[in-house]
Amino acid sequence: MNAKASYDEVLRLMKEHHHWFSESIPLIASENIPSAAVREALMSDFGNRYAEGWPGERVYAGCTYIDQVELICNELARKVFRSEFADCRATSGVVANLAIYAAFSRPGDYMIAASIPNGGHISHGKKENFGTAGLVHGLNIEYYPFSKEEMTIDVDGTKKKIQEMEHDGKSPKLGMFGGSLFLFPHPVKELSDFMHEHGIYINYDGAHVAGLIAGGEFQDPLKEGADSMTMSSHKTLWGPQGGIIVSLEKHAETIKKAVFPGNTSSHHLHHVAGKAIALAESLQFGKDYAKQVIKNARALAEGLVGFGFGVLGEKKGYTASHQIAVDVSKFGDGGTIEKDLEKANIILNRQLLPGDIKAGRHYMHPSGVRIGVPETTRLGMKESEMKEVAGFIKRVVVDKQDPHIVAKDVADFRKQFQQLHYAFDNTIGAYEYISLVTKRT
Ligand SMILES: *Cc1c(COP(=O)(O)O)cnc(C)c1O
Repeated sequence: MNAKASYDEVLRLMKEHHHWFSESIPLIASENIPSAAVREALMSDFGNRYAEGWPGERVYAGCTYIDQVELICNELARKVFRSEFADCRATSGVVANLAIYAAFSRPGDYMIAASIPNGGHISHGKKENFGTAGLVHGLNIEYYPFSKEEMTIDVDGTKKKIQEMEHDGKSPKLGMFGGSLFLFPHPVKELSDFMHEHGIYINYDGAHVAGLIAGGEFQDPLKEGADSMTMSSHKTLWGPQGGIIVSLEKHAETIKKAVFPGNTSSHHLHHVAGKAIALAESLQFGKDYAKQVIKNARALAEGLVGFGFGVLGEKKGYTASHQIAVDVSKFGDGGTIEKDLEKANIILNRQLLPGDIKAGRHYMHPSGVRIGVPETTRLGMKESEMKEVAGFIKRVVVDKQDPHIVAKDVADFRKQFQQLHYAFDNTIGAYEYISLVTKRT
C-alpha cells in the first residue's frame, strides 16, 4: 500500500469499526462508551500540549486554561470518591498502580494480591508471569486465600497467611484489593485494621468498579480503611482511557512525586479534560446508572441460568457489580465461544475461572466467559433487554445456530439503542463517526 492508500485505509477501517459496534451488543466488562462531551475533549488542543507537574507549579508555559481544568478535575474526583486527596494524572490504571508501588514499596518487598483466576489483574502479578508488580517494580507476590463459594477473598485465611509470611521473614509491605473478575466487594473493612497493625499499606484497585463506587452502590474502600484507591477512568466510570488515584491526605506528597516525575512526563491533558467531564456526569447521573448496572447484571445472570448456563456466585445472587462470570464448559471452551459470539456481533471475552489453572486449563481456552453490562446500560437497556441478550447468547452457544443469522437479529435489536443515556448532552449518536476530513464513503 502506498502512503495515501494506507492513510485512506486507516480512516476507512475506523469508520467500519464504528458501524460494526453500532450493530453489536458490547459486553466487555472493562469497556464503556463516553459521552459526546468527553469525545470533544479528546479532539481538543489540550491533547497537543505539555504541562508536567502540579497545576500552578508547571514545568511548561501555556497552561493557563489547562491548570483550571485540572484543578476542577481533582476537585470533582475528591467529591465523587469522598476522598481527601486526588491526582488525575496517571495515564492508565496500570500507571496508577505503578505509582503506588513506587510510593510505598521497594523492589524485593512482598505484596499480597488476588491471583488471576481468582480475579487479580496482570498489573498485580508475578515476574514469572510478566506481571507489572514483579517485572517492573521487583515486588514478590503472594496470593490471598480465596473462597470460590463466596467468590471473594477469605478473611480468616488471609490473617493466617499474613502471619505465616511474617514468620517466614516475608512480611508484606503492600496489600492490594480489587481485581478484574470482581463480583462481590472485597473484605477491606474486615481486614484493614489487622493489616495496618501488621504494617501493611492498603491500596484498593477500583479499575473495574470505580463508577459503581462513585454512585455509592458498591463498597467504599477509603471509608473501610484503604490508604489509597487506584482506578481506570473508562470502565464503569465512563471517561476517556486513563487512570486516577485518590487517597488520604497524609499520602498526598508521596503519591504526587510517584506520579510525576516517577511515572509520567506528559499526562495527556485532553484525557484530564475528559476525566473532568466524566466525573461531573458521574456526580449528576452516577447513582441512577450504578443502580441500573447492577440490576442489569443480575437480570442477565438469571436469564442465562434459565437457559442452563452455570453462573458463578449463585449463593450470593450471582453478582453485586457490573459483571458476571459464566461457566461455559458444558458447551465448549471460553475461547471458542468468544469467537463464535463475535461472529454473531456479541462482544465479550473468555475468562479463567477459579480452579482453571489447577485443572490444567490455559488462558486461551478457559472454562468461562466474563460478561459486563456497563456499555449496554449506558445505551439505555434495562432488565427486559437483558433477557433478550441472554436469548441471543443461548442461540449461539446452546442451540449452535449460525452466528451470521443471529448477527442480523442482533443488528435489528440494536436499532432502538443508538443514543447514550446518563449524560448532560446526547446530541450525537453513541457510535456516530465524526469525520474532520473530507467526507468518505
Ligand atoms: C483494567 C485493569 C487495570 C488496568 O487499567 P488500564 O487503565 O487498562 O491500564 C488495572 N487493574 C485492574 C484490576 C483492571 O481490571
